[in-house]
Amino acid sequence: MTNSFLETPVEYLKGVGPARAELLKKDLNINTFGDLLTLFPFRYVDRSKFVRVADIREDGVYIQIKAKIVHIQTIGSAHHQRLVATARDESGEIDLVWFQGTKWVLEMLTPQQEYVIFGKPAIFNGRWNIPHPELEIPTTQPLPLSEIIRPIYASTEKLKSKGLDFKGIGRLIKSLLLNEKFKMPESLTPEIVSRLKLLNRQDAFVNIHFPQSPELLAKAQTRLKFEELFYIQLRLARQRYGRLQKHEGHRFLKVGDYVNQFYHHHLTFNLTNAQKRVIKEIRADMGSGNQMNRLLQGDVGSGKTLVALMTMLIALDNQFQSCLMAPTEILARQHFNTITKMLTSLNVVVRLLTGSTKAAERREIQEGLLAGTVHILIGTHALIEDNVQFLHLGLVVIDEQHRFGVAQRAKLWEKNVVTPHILVMTATPIPRTLAMTLYGDLDTSVIDEMPPGRRSIMTKHAYEPDRGKVFRFIKEQIREGRQIYIVYPLIQESETLDLKNLEDGYQSIIQEFPPPEFSVSMVHGKMKQKEKDAAMKKFLEKENQIMVATTVIEVGVDVPNASVMVIENAERFGLSQLHQLRGRVGRGSDQSYCILMSGYELSAEARKRIATMVRTNDGFEIAETDLQLRGPGDLQGTQQSGIMDLRIADIVKDEKILKYARNLASEIIGKDPDLSTGKNDILALHLLNMDRKHQNWGLIS
Ligand code: ADP
Ligand code: MG
Repeated sequence: MTNSFLETPVEYLKGVGPARAELLKKDLNINTFGDLLTLFPFRYVDRSKFVRVADIREDGVYIQIKAKIVHIQTIGSAHHQRLVATARDESGEIDLVWFQGTKWVLEMLTPQQEYVIFGKPAIFNGRWNIPHPELEIPTTQPLPLSEIIRPIYASTEKLKSKGLDFKGIGRLIKSLLLNEKFKMPESLTPEIVSRLKLLNRQDAFVNIHFPQSPELLAKAQTRLKFEELFYIQLRLARQRYGRLQKHEGHRFLKVGDYVNQFYHHHLTFNLTNAQKRVIKEIRADMGSGNQMNRLLQGDVGSGKTLVALMTMLIALDNQFQSCLMAPTEILARQHFNTITKMLTSLNVVVRLLTGSTKAAERREIQEGLLAGTVHILIGTHALIEDNVQFLHLGLVVIDEQHRFGVAQRAKLWEKNVVTPHILVMTATPIPRTLAMTLYGDLDTSVIDEMPPGRRSIMTKHAYEPDRGKVFRFIKEQIREGRQIYIVYPLIQESETLDLKNLEDGYQSIIQEFPPPEFSVSMVHGKMKQKEKDAAMKKFLEKENQIMVATTVIEVGVDVPNASVMVIENAERFGLSQLHQLRGRVGRGSDQSYCILMSGYELSAEARKRIATMVRTNDGFEIAETDLQLRGPGDLQGTQQSGIMDLRIADIVKDEKILKYARNLASEIIGKDPDLSTGKNDILALHLLNMDRKHQNWGLIS
């Protein structure tokens, strides 16, 4: 069933035509009548409310005032003329300014007349004005209810110059809603609509654009937000179900010698309860006969590597090989070292494969993998190269997953006939709401407890003039045998500048901390692998006390003796990055410190980020704040997920609706996995239409 009205190309709408249609396509991705109708207002203005001129505080936000025109003048030459009308209410005066159509406005304006003035105030030369406001003569009758709430649509400069400002767009949409052929097919079953007391779809569309009352607007918003989130969840629930159905998994039933030996004789500490619980969840999953696809979340330092190792030993007890993939060479090497050390005398063959593995060794490893004599392979992207093949690959562990694209993950899957179990680990805690939308098809385990004896890291915000004090503190720490990281930002766009900044920093640190008492090293991403490794090794072996670095040390690196993390230009880092960096210290039993250096001039957001870091060590709290500050679009991993395309729902503000949508979606898929019982025809059809539409978009862009 197609709806030809909704699919009519937008250029056929009266008032659009080819040129505007082209622009609507280009700027707003609006191709059809239906697309135009899903351009929802991003704001509403209550036309019954007026702001006093003296109370104007904010620029760029639509307001409405009621004021009398007391003075009109044109300024400038004929070519660059502007018209300035001064309007006055009982509290003060404001200028109304026109740069275009001045002649026409001049004719229209009546001096001493009171107007309802609608527009966005701006500050010019220290004075408030409103450019190109909209004027109306106030009515003596109260506005009809249906005209009180006015929708504001997003537009672009180009569209505005073609007459499609928010009013123009509003007019187009109104004409669609008034068209006799306008009909919005229902997308939810009658059962859902009545159970949740939702507005029907047709009324929701009418009221989202032209609310008949504030109550109906609220109902329309709820209905459309629910629908949007529900379909994301329905798709995820179906994918998850499909995966469980299709992907039969290796059944790891045994816990044998490797696990027992390791657990009882080689583990030098007790597992935390969270680690035990998570390992249990993983075991149950890998023994179920379904393929595991699990996300393991745990804050930096919570001990994920150990969980990964136990998981790989379970695979080995069941005669399967595993691989562990890390995002950087440094990290892969570190995993390799930790794991080989933990497994000494356990007769497990662990190999490392990275981009810098020599050809001969690579060949030897590949042969071992095929013969089954290599049990655990650790490495970087090199692991997913085509010629790396296993005899019995049973488990893939991916560390710090946000660094890998979905495509890379998919590639790993194809390696074997029976898809291996997959454990994805991340130390960037993902806010619950985001996890639900992003990874709804993954099962999740959370390590929410730190190993005992950890002291929480003390975090301080220091300004440039405090530097002397900071350096004195570092010296004290070094004299107590501790080690220090000093991190500089290195951001792609300003790479050369940052690199210079880093080297200057390095030089000044050497001057401040001269040999022979001190020894400083440097690592950054532009160095050769060998040099990087050498520097890391020296730091690990305590030959250097200070490591000057870029964010290459952000992920995973483990030097328990390091107790101070100094972050230069802290305002330039994102919250999750700051948290990751801070996680490099506090890994031993000594009190650790994080010092965030910045200048005095900080944006409100940067100030909030730094304050959040000073306030809390809790990765989940930090992730929530990050999501609130930046919105989902900027968070790692969200770009490919489609949640950027949300038109009306907001996964931060609409968490309750999201949960409801999620529960209902899994309930429905649980009872009717293929949506084929007839009862759910509407849902199946709507999903199909959505898929088709996405394909079309793919072809266009
Ligand atoms: P992450 O979760 O950040 O990957 P790691 O696995 O690197 O954390 O663990 C951080 C440190 O804590 C390591 O030195 C590890 O040996 C240690 N560790 C892990 N689990 C425990 C535990 N249960 N008790 C004590 N120390 C632990
Ligand atoms: Mg780790």
